[in-house]
This record gives sequence, structure tokens and C-alpha cells, in this order.
Amino acid sequence: MRLGIDIGGTKTAAVAIGADGELSDLVRLPTGFGGPAVLSTARQVVRRMSELAGVEASAFDSIGIGIPGAVDTATGRVEHAVNLGLEGLDLGPKLSDELGVEVRVENDVKAAALGAHHLLGVADGVTAHSMAYLNLGTGLAAGIVLDGELLRGGHGVAGEIGHIPVDPAGVRCTCGQRGCLETVASGSAIARMWPTEHPLPARELFDLAEAGEAHAVDVREQFLRGAASAVRLLALTTDVDDIVIGGGLAALGEPLLLGVRRILNEWAKDSAFLASTDLAQRVQVIPLGFPAAAVGAALVGEPSWQNS
Ligand SMILES: [Zn+2]
Repeated sequence: MRLGIDIGGTKTAAVAIGADGELSDLVRLPTGFGGPAVLSTARQVVRRMSELAGVEASAFDSIGIGIPGAVDTATGRVEHAVNLGLEGLDLGPKLSDELGVEVRVENDVKAAALGAHHLLGVADGVTAHSMAYLNLGTGLAAGIVLDGELLRGGHGVAGEIGHIPVDPAGVRCTCGQRGCLETVASGSAIARMWPTEHPLPARELFDLAEAGEAHAVDVREQFLRGAASAVRLLALTTDVDDIVIGGGLAALGEPLLLGVRRILNEWAKDSAFLASTDLAQRVQVIPLGFPAAAVGAALVGEPSWQNS
């Protein structure tokens, strides 16, 4: 059994995958803030999973963790996980020593890409897809899997398309550049463009736009054009077969998918080239509730990933 843990800004989720690919029930805990608290959350979730499975933690074949921030997959060290209050933590080695089983660590979006890739394989029985996972959460980033192998790149920034500027006159991004894709197509972009007290700002935005409120329509269209640009960018740089949208905003579901497809189809009307790429048919939204990052984290420990 392989154990996968997704350490998120507010919640930590864990799932075990059996030899037959069967997923266990998901376990969720609130994530602590700061290095010691994050370590303690990880320990608790491992303990809970080993109780549920009725085995010692050391009996798991592997343990993988997906976590935001800059992850050195060779050393298991995490840096700059701002939302978790982490400047630097040797997460992998610390847990490996304590638990007596190798703990591998991967960036959460890359882990989620592996999870989404796994789901495509379950759906059609093909083991090595080429696909991109577009994470629309607080920020915007992508994980790319080519012929079944995660693209890591040499400096850990493969897929960081949220920081590709698309509007030289746009607002200043947290990265210091201007008009990055993330400043139009992300949760933080919606929070800026659509200030509200509503607990689910994106949902409110889409509902009001659907009802025809003019300003909501404007903001929604800006957002959808940004998301569609991200899809186009991924398809034209990697030519993957599928682009799967995940992350917190994927909970918008059908209205998000249909909106992105509508924009892609509008662009295709003006461009025979774009029309030939059939982009609208290659994009999908991950099923609601599928724990992509936890599933992918479990697969990070899989031998075939270890040398890539
Ligand atoms: Zn940026």
C-alpha cells in the first residue's frame, strides 16, 4: 500500500492506494502553521492512516507528500511555502527517520498532475498519457506529464505559467512582473476584480454573471479569457492530448468548463490554425472531490518516478 499526503494551506488530506489501484477512504485534518506544526500534522495523518489500515507506518511501501512551495525532490526539502509559514524544512528526511520508510516530497501542483494523470489512465486503461494539469487555485500553475513522466525541469519552474505576463499594462504581480496570467485567472485575481463578503466569491461572480449582471459578466469574461489563454498556452507549448483543470476554482464545475470552451471556440472562429487544434474538446475539469494531489503524492513514491 502506498500512502499519499496532500498538505494544503488549510487542510491536509491523505489517501492510500492498494496494489490493485484501489483508493482508501480519504482522511482530512486541519494543517498547522509553521514548520513544527506542519511536521506534527504530517505525523498525525500518517498515524491515523496506519490505524485505519491496521498496519505500522513502516509497513507502507512508500509515503509521498505534496506540498506548496519550492521542493527539492532529491533532498525532500521544502522552501518558501508562504501559506504554511514555512521558510525551509527538511520534511522528507525528518519523517523518513522517524517512520522508518522513505518519504518523498513533491510540489503540490506537480503531485496533483500525477493524480489527474492516474485518473485518465483509470478511465481508459492507457498507462502513459501526455497531459497538463492546470491548477486554478489562489494562484495559477500547471503540472505537465509527458508520456507518463512528470516534467520537472532543471530549476523547478516547469509549468509555472502563472507568471507569464499576458498584459504589459496589467497590474503588478506578487512575483514583481506586470500583467501575469495569474493576475487575471486565479482565485486571487477574482478576489481583486470582484471584492465581496460572499464566502465563495467565484461562485457568486458566476451566478450573477449568469443572471446577466453587467459588471459580473465583464469580470467573468476577463477571468475566462485568462483561463482559456492558459489552456491554449499549455496546448501550444507541449501539445499534450488533455488539459485537465483542477484546484479550488474547479469546484465551479460545468459553468467553468463551458465558459472556457466557449472562449476557445470563439478564438477558433477567427483562426483556422487554432480551429485545427480542436482545443475545446481537449479541455476538461477534474471531477469534484477527487483528491488529485493526495493520489499523485502516493504515486510520487512509485519506483518509475524515482529516476525522473
Ligand atoms: Zn507573476
